[in-house]
This record gives sequence, structure tokens and C-alpha cells, in this order.
Amino acid sequence: MNSATRVNSSSQDVQPKSAKALHEHGATSPTTFSSTQMSDRIQATLIPGDGIGPEIVDATLAVLDALGAPFEWDRRAAGLAGVAAHGDPLPSVTLDSIRGTRLALKGPLATPSGGGYRSSNVRLREEFKLYANLRPALTLVPGGRFENIDLVVVRENLEGLYIGHEHFVQIDDDPHAVAMATGINTRAGSRRLLKFAFEQAVETGRKKVTIVHKANIMKALTGIFLETALELYEHQYKGRFELDTVIIDACAMKLVLDPWQFDMLVTTNLFGDILSDLVAGLVGGLGMAPGANIGADAAIFEAVHGSAPDIAGKGVANPVALMLASEMMLRHCKLNDMALRLRQALVETLNVDRVRTGDLGGNATTSSFAQAVVDRIKNS
Ligand code: NAD
Repeated sequence: MNSATRVNSSSQDVQPKSAKALHEHGATSPTTFSSTQMSDRIQATLIPGDGIGPEIVDATLAVLDALGAPFEWDRRAAGLAGVAAHGDPLPSVTLDSIRGTRLALKGPLATPSGGGYRSSNVRLREEFKLYANLRPALTLVPGGRFENIDLVVVRENLEGLYIGHEHFVQIDDDPHAVAMATGINTRAGSRRLLKFAFEQAVETGRKKVTIVHKANIMKALTGIFLETALELYEHQYKGRFELDTVIIDACAMKLVLDPWQFDMLVTTNLFGDILSDLVAGLVGGLGMAPGANIGADAAIFEAVHGSAPDIAGKGVANPVALMLASEMMLRHCKLNDMALRLRQALVETLNVDRVRTGDLGGNATTSSFAQAVVDRIKNS
């Protein structure tokens, strides 16, 4: 299995609605969307997002257009743009759009501070039960601190300490005297994510799956995840890949000392959030890290990074992460040839033409990088 196939692996349990499927079949199943429908238009929601979002989304659309990708975009606001347009960081028209398309490409969303807003990203995951977050890290630009990295982090996306059930307790005149957070992991939620990850491992030829936990201290909260993983492996997956377990703190150290010992890391929400940024750092930073949120009701593709307010509007953001996310989206829609052409064009632009944005040591702008990728696609 080559790395191109691996990095784009995504769930087959949610399929987008092609125009034909929408009109003729209603909800599609994995078998109703096939390469024979590749000429159909595919309805998808597009959320440009905040900060550098619109810049990297424009760059990605230019590349998808050059490929002739058959997406019919329904452009919707969310995040700060949602507040500006509809007074809500997750407007109902945006949710309705995703309910219809079950497929979205999303720029980063800033969470407005104050005003009691919950993160739009967390709300989106909850709304569409996007229980699995797939975050591949692959070396595309050689010569960095680590060579030949090919790892994927599979993160549980709906449970754990990340659910944000928190409060302060007042003592005397200090309203923030005590802070409390509740984490919840369920056997059913752990199993659903683990099954998704193990299926991914089998489908994409991963040799080793490592369960990352902290069951030595958080015996219940992360113990249930570990216990469920061992049980599922023993009963259904034994012999199909090697299963390993590691405590989160040791995992962080091992990733820095010898990342090649890992193949697929599967973990709970908060640990996955942190580890996926760590592995992004192994392959050149956040500008190189794509992600897919896969669930029962939709699939949403995005970069791992946020809205990068420090560089927003300067035209210097690296669009590779979102382009790689769109490559995952192409594969999710079974447009594998287009996905391969996109990957090829990215690799050639970065390494043959040596066109790179500032975060990779180059001086290309977001749009000049996109143009270079478009040129590569047109000449391929
Ligand atoms: P960030 O990821 O936006 O930025 C961290 C650093 O990485 C910054 O220095 C930034 O300039 C750099 N960076 C990020 N993406 C880059 C790119 N494509 N090219 C070049 N450099 C890039 O993290 P943050 O500053 O902590 O968060 C900013 C906002 O984004 C917050 O409101 C946060 O809630 C939100 N956020 C959203 C998502 C999401 O929508 N999935 C994810 C993370 C953070």
C-alpha cells in the first residue's frame, strides 16, 4: 500500500449525495455512489471560515477547478463570519446545507471570546455525530528534521474531557476559586471509534495500531477506552495487524525520539487533539496537516490548523493542509484518480519547482503557490 493511498483513507460509512443520488435515491449508501457516477455533480457545502480561511479556500478551489472536480458548492458562513452574517457562529442555514449535502469542505473557524459562544467546531461535530477524526501526517518535503514520516492519528471526536462540561465554584469573594471539568467516555462511543480505526488500518494496510491512553492514572475515563480496544482486537482483529498500547506521556517522548516506530495512533479526544499537532510538527508544521471528520450523518474535511489571525489577510498562508484535506474528500467520493493527480502536482510543486510558502522557508504567496499547483495539474 503506498503512502498516497494511506494518507487519504477515509470512512466509507457516509457518502455524499451526488445530484443524481439526491434526486433519485434520497439518502445514499456506500454502494450507491460509485465511479460510474463520477460524471455527476456532487453537492457539497463550502465554509470559507475565518482568518486565513477564505485565502486558503480560494487557493484550494482553484486547484479543484483545474482538476475538473465535480463539486457543486453551497457556500455558507460560520464562525466569526457566521456571527457577522447571521448573528450566530453556526447559523441554521449552514447546518441545513450540511444536512442536505452530508459533505463539506471547511476553512478554520475562530471561536469568538466572550458572549457565551461554544466552539462551532465542537458543535458541528456533535450536530453531525462526527465521531472519528482522521489526521494523517506524511513527509512531503524532504530535508526537514524528520524524514519519511507516514503516520495517522485517529482521534475520538465526541467524548472525553474535550466535551467542555466545566464550571467554576465560588469561595468567599473569589468566583473562580475552583475549576471543575467532567470527562465522559462511553463503551459504545469508544467501540464505534475503535471499530472505525481498526477498519481503516485493515483497508489501508497499516501494520501496527497503537492505543494511546492514561489508564494508569485516569483508570475509568481512559481505562474504558483501553479495555474496549483490547477486547475488540482480541475478538475481531487479532492477526490482521499488530496492536500495541502506550501511555500518552511516553508516547509524546517516543514520537520525538523515534516516530518511525508508530504507524497508526488511536486515542481519546483531548490526547488526539494534542498528538495530531505534535505529528504535524514532524512533517513541517500545521500548514501540512489535513483532517477529516467522519460520522454517522456527514463528513467534513478541513485543515488541522486554526484561523491564524497573526497572518490573516497577508496572503502568505500555506494552503497545502486544506489542499490535502480536499484530496481526502476526493477519495471519500471515490474520485481516486483526481486525488492522485492532486497529490502528484503538490509534490512536484513543492519539490521540483521548489515553490513554497514562508512557513516552509520559501517566498511564495498563497495565490502564487496555488497557481503553481494549477500549472502542474494542467501540464500533467
Ligand atoms: P492556529 O492554528 O490558527 O495558528 C498557530 C500558528 O500556526 C500561528 O503562528 C499561525 O500563523 C500558524 N499557522 C497556522 N496555519 C498556518 C498556515 N496554513 N500557514 C502558515 N502558518 C500557519 O492556532 P491558534 O492561533 O491557536 O488559533 C486561532 C483561532 O483558530 C482560535 O480562535 C481557535 O479557536 C481557532 N481554531 C480553529 C480550528 C478549526 O477550525 N478546526 C482549529 C484550531 C484552532
